[in-house]
Amino acid sequence: MEDYPRTLLEFEERFSTEEACIEYLFKLRWPEGFRCPRCEHPAAWNMRRDLYRCVRCRFETSITAGTIFQDTRKPLHLWFRAIWHLTSQKYGANALGLQRVLDLGSYRTAWIWLHKLRRAMVRPGRDRLSGTTQVDETYIGGEKPGKRGRGAAGKALVVVMVEVKEGKIGRIRLRRVRDASAPSLEGAVKEGVETGSTIHTDGWGGYGQLSEMDYIHEVVRKEAVVGRNLLPKVNLVVCLAQAVVVRNLSRWRSTFSPGLLS
Ligand SMILES: [Zn+2]
Repeated sequence: MEDYPRTLLEFEERFSTEEACIEYLFKLRWPEGFRCPRCEHPAAWNMRRDLYRCVRCRFETSITAGTIFQDTRKPLHLWFRAIWHLTSQKYGANALGLQRVLDLGSYRTAWIWLHKLRRAMVRPGRDRLSGTTQVDETYIGGEKPGKRGRGAAGKALVVVMVEVKEGKIGRIRLRRVRDASAPSLEGAVKEGVETGSTIHTDGWGGYGQLSEMDYIHEVVRKEAVVGRNLLPKVNLVVCLAQAVVVRNLSRWRSTFSPGLLS
C-alpha cells in the first residue's frame, strides 16, 4: 500500500508539524535508511532536524537539498498544504485560491508558489507517446457509462492514450479533461502524444481535427459510445485503472517522487 494521505482529514493529521513533513521527505529520499550522497556510507549525524553529516566523509546534506523546498523560509507544512490544495482541485488551482487556503499575506507569493509547484509537477523524463497510439476517453469512478460530455456527474472524464507496439501495450498516459469537446480532447492529445504519430480513435467528432495538428489520424471504429465500446487496448488499461483511486493520489505521489527528490 502506498503511503500517502487519502483525505483532507488524514492529511491535516499527518502533516501538521515540521517533524512529520521532514520524516516523510526522509523516507522518500532514503527508503532504506540514510545513504551519503557522496560516499554511500549508511551512517550520519543528525545535525539539525533536516541536516545530516556523513560520519565517514563529513559531507553534509539536507533533506530538502535538490528539491523545491531547498532554501525556503516558509515552513514545510505550508508547502505540503499547497501541494495538497493543488492536487485536489478538479480543474486546477489558481493563485488567489492558494493565497486564501494558505493564508498568505501576498498574492504575489501565492503566484510564485503556484508556478514553482506546477513546474515541479511536470515530471522530468515524462516523454510523450509516439508511434501508433490508441486514444479514447471514458468516465472513471462510476459504474454506469454516461453520455459524452454530459450526464455523468461525479465521474472523472479521462482521456486514455495507449501506445501499441507489435500488438502489445506500450506506455500509457491518462489525462483528465473537463468534457469531450474537441478543444479538451485535442489539448490532451497534444500533451500526451508526439506529433507525427499515428493516432487511432473512434468516430467521435472531437477527434476530427487531429490530422490538421500534424498527426496521422485513423478512425478505426465508426461508432462512438463512451464507456461501453472502447478501443481494445484502451479498454484493457481502463479496466486496470478502475481498480485504482485515480483522483489526486497519483499526482500527490508524483509531486514528491523522482523529479523532486533527485
Ligand atoms: Zn560520506
